[in-house]
Amino acid sequence: MVLLEKAPAKITLSLDVLGKRTDGFHEVKMIMTSVDLTDILELHERHRDVIDVSADSQYVPDDERNLAYKAAAAFKQQYHLTKGVRINIKKNIPVAAGLGGGSSDAAAVLRGLNQMWSVGASRAELTQLGARLGSDVPFCMTGTTALGTGRGEVIHPLPSPPACYVVLAKPDMGISTRHVFPRLNLNNLKHQPTADVIRSLEEANFRNLCDSVGNTLEPVTFSMHPEVARVKEKMLANGAAGAVMSGSGPVIAGLVRPFSRARRVYNGLRGFCDAVYIVRLLDQR
Ligand code: ATP
Repeated sequence: MVLLEKAPAKITLSLDVLGKRTDGFHEVKMIMTSVDLTDILELHERHRDVIDVSADSQYVPDDERNLAYKAAAAFKQQYHLTKGVRINIKKNIPVAAGLGGGSSDAAAVLRGLNQMWSVGASRAELTQLGARLGSDVPFCMTGTTALGTGRGEVIHPLPSPPACYVVLAKPDMGISTRHVFPRLNLNNLKHQPTADVIRSLEEANFRNLCDSVGNTLEPVTFSMHPEVARVKEKMLANGAAGAVMSGSGPVIAGLVRPFSRARRVYNGLRGFCDAVYIVRLLDQR
């Protein structure tokens, strides 16, 4: 049997950092939602007790370091399974971009294997298993708009954002989250945007949403890579109603209405960035 699973990219509409915990992680509050830029995973059932993974991207490991591999291994161990799987990943989500591609692949493997091997694990069980693989995996289990607390793995559902287009612009670099957090000055945290973003979602107010999106990590990434700040400026100058860095960057997500304006933003950024996409929110009202 071959099962296809889609793994959507996520963007952060807000990211607050509350402090550093004794376990070394930062305590965060972030609002996440999914967009229709997706990796496609083929899960090939195998009779031998082996996991193989391959991806059509030179930036993604094709061994046990791949998050999809880790997810399959964790799932097999959790449910005492001796079956095998070959996982082929078509990577459409840029790697190390702040779009949670690896976490989404891991969540897709958990969903897919649960179905393929008729294990019957509940969503809550899979989410708990996912949290052991990475902070973003629990959000990726559902992908609807949510507030993540703790290190981002405790998920609280939120109202869907108002419908709009999202222009994703990726400067020509990859950034690892673990290089950004240590550079954050916890004594100088400016405005934390999450409370305002929650209010705008509750009011379904597009204008207020665009005005309130924000990310406490932006100053850190912008000081390491000033070109990311320039992409954000250019996004707004070309007509995005709001723009925010996703995760630890470098992707900047611009919220835009209507499509003709999204096209203008896209055209203004093409050539200036490594990759630009116009996508839709997967969860919108
Ligand atoms: P992070 O916040 O962990 O930096 P990100 O969302 O910005 O994540 P990802 O695309 O998930 O970025 O990639 C982060 C790292 O994980 C990369 O260095 C990549 O080599 C590794 N990785 C492992 N498995 C995968 C996978 N299935 N897809 C993408 N990257 C993967």
